[in-house]
Amino acid sequence: MPLETGRPFLAIPGPTNIPDRVLRAMHRPMVNIYEGPLIELTHSLFPDLKKIAGTEGHCMAYIANGHGAWEAALANTISAGETVLVLESGRFAVGWGNMAAQMGAVVETLDSPARSAVDPAAVEAYLRADTGHRIKAILVVQIDTATGVRNDIQAIRRAIDAAKHPALFMVDCIACFGCVPYEMDGWGADVTVAACQKGLMTPPGLGFVFANDKAMAVREANGCASTYWDWLPRAKPEAYYQLFCGTAPVSHLFGLREALDMMAEEGLDAIFARHARLARGVRAAVARWGEGGPLEFNITDALARSDVVTTILTGAVDAQALRRYCEDALSVTLGLGIGLDANHAFRIGHMGHVNEAMILGTLGAVEMGLSRIGADFAPGGVEAAIEAMA
Ligand SMILES: *Cc1c(COP(=O)(O)O)cnc(C)c1O
Repeated sequence: MPLETGRPFLAIPGPTNIPDRVLRAMHRPMVNIYEGPLIELTHSLFPDLKKIAGTEGHCMAYIANGHGAWEAALANTISAGETVLVLESGRFAVGWGNMAAQMGAVVETLDSPARSAVDPAAVEAYLRADTGHRIKAILVVQIDTATGVRNDIQAIRRAIDAAKHPALFMVDCIACFGCVPYEMDGWGADVTVAACQKGLMTPPGLGFVFANDKAMAVREANGCASTYWDWLPRAKPEAYYQLFCGTAPVSHLFGLREALDMMAEEGLDAIFARHARLARGVRAAVARWGEGGPLEFNITDALARSDVVTTILTGAVDAQALRRYCEDALSVTLGLGIGLDANHAFRIGHMGHVNEAMILGTLGAVEMGLSRIGADFAPGGVEAAIEAMA
């Protein structure tokens, strides 16, 4: 039984902590969905979302989780029999590619070096070899939530340009949307996928796809086999009812409005700086623990470690026992290793509605857990985090 004598801590990489303000904004009766203030509120969300995405392109919103937004992006751009290239760097781009395969695409995968980010030079070489331009889209994640890696989206774009390849560049930003800098137009992504339950601090249930004119032209030329995922009625609705292909997600819209207001109050640059600072703290703690035992970063290149989630390999230390102790005895929920051996890996989510005290609490719980399960580790991780975040 988790303790109920204080707030439980959720330190998984999504869904994330929902601010009380957002919870309160959602806790209200349903309203008229045909006319009145909800319509205006909904339309007010799109400019804010586009600002976070760094785009003046189109934004389509769905009642869906991230997988739904993935499918929306594919359904409008890829026809059966067309080839997509997946830039693998963990579980998530591969999952997106598997979805494309099930939808009839031919999927090719470029693996990144083990425990590393996508290598732009390898992307360039791969695309140069595609002289006939059979590849119609390139799928990549900005941050892979399984491995904790951060890919350099700008460098990958430069590689695509160097190869003079015309494929659509599609980026999954679900893990880090609104947590780290991203410039869809400035960096040259054609499609961006996001969802509300991580950096946007809103309960799971809204997915977003951003598309530039190049991607929209592909949709207009090829059609879309799905009514629900179709971009056109959502990007250019003749009636409010078309924005969500039916009933609007009323409570989520109120919640997201509040979350975006909170983000505007803090300021995007301050949010990015906060995530960078908290991530420094987490990494300092992990590095310290590893000085006296087998704990280590999953991502070997320090510069490719993400600012929203940290994946830790535990070697001989029982990661399941650690997670169980933290949850049952301390009410701190850690992420389990996915795509890795869950007995020997865990993850700390540090995205969204988090601050120094919450991070120190989580790190303190991990340190206490490591000690209680008799793990080999160097203590002092919390002190190292305090120093790193100061
Ligand atoms: C969370 C996440 C997803 C999946 O989102 P769901 O809402 O669980 O469908 C996809 N990609 C990345 C990078 C994620 O972090």
